[in-house]
Amino acid sequence: MPIIQLQNVSYTYNAGSRDKVEAVKDVTLQIEEGSFVALVGHNGSGKSTLAKLLNGLLLPTSGSVSVYGIDTKRSESIYEIRKNVGMVFQNPDNQMIASIVEDDIAFGPENLGVEREEIIRRVDWALEKVGMSEHKKGTPFKMSGGQKQRLAIAGVLAIKPRVLVLDESTAMLDPRGRREVMQVAKELNRQEGITVINITHYMDEALGADRLIVMNEGKIVLDDTPSKVFAQHEYLKSIKLSVPPVTALAVRLAEQGVPIDTAVTTKEELVEELCRLL
Ligand code: ADP
Ligand code: MG
Repeated sequence: MPIIQLQNVSYTYNAGSRDKVEAVKDVTLQIEEGSFVALVGHNGSGKSTLAKLLNGLLLPTSGSVSVYGIDTKRSESIYEIRKNVGMVFQNPDNQMIASIVEDDIAFGPENLGVEREEIIRRVDWALEKVGMSEHKKGTPFKMSGGQKQRLAIAGVLAIKPRVLVLDESTAMLDPRGRREVMQVAKELNRQEGITVINITHYMDEALGADRLIVMNEGKIVLDDTPSKVFAQHEYLKSIKLSVPPVTALAVRLAEQGVPIDTAVTTKEELVEELCRLL
């Protein structure tokens, strides 16, 4: 059974007024449980709107969204839906609540009324999952961008979601921070079976996904394996998406069996990566 199902979903901001925006148009989509999906598209293509439709933060103007078979329009189930579909956003600083790491992670389950002992277990588990156990008593505000985003993920994990949606969660990070966050997302997918939907504008991040969905002007225009999508260079270019040349080179090397990290977007990173291999 698909964990998330969208049937002819459209979403219009300011519907009925002069400045209405049709952000998502007639999207039909199924997300399989346990999959790792990347979603790309240039600015304004509707990715964040789609993300917010997945957990009931927005309700479709027309069509339906269901999570585990429950329609997001059923208001009595909204907590259940939000609990199942956790979201991490772009700016790590906007996602910190408490001044001590463990309190920050505990915030979600506390709000759900989880009992104290279970909260303690979850905080330890979530911090371990994102590789931040030693920072339990630390101060979130003093951490690097990558660490902050890993804490934001831990905060969501403490709610025990089945789906993790990352909405450009690596956009403000340096290459190292990006790698840290992607590593965590991949491990959660492989080890915990958590379904991951990674919205990104880094085409290289899409590479490791099982499935790559491309949006343009509110519609899904490509939905296939990353290699099949990347093969459509010309089309991608026409919708203002392109595989960065350096990434394209790394991808080709990886295809030839070179154990290179393809998450490189600049010459400097490629050189660094090649030196590491020598
Ligand atoms: P993406 O995440 O791909 O950049 P968004 O989903 O944020 O795209 O935006 C899709 C379209 O909806 C854009 O044209 C954007 O300007 C518009 N939009 C987004 N949020 C709002 C809002 N709160 N009110 C009105 N228009 C919005
Ligand atoms: Mg967005």
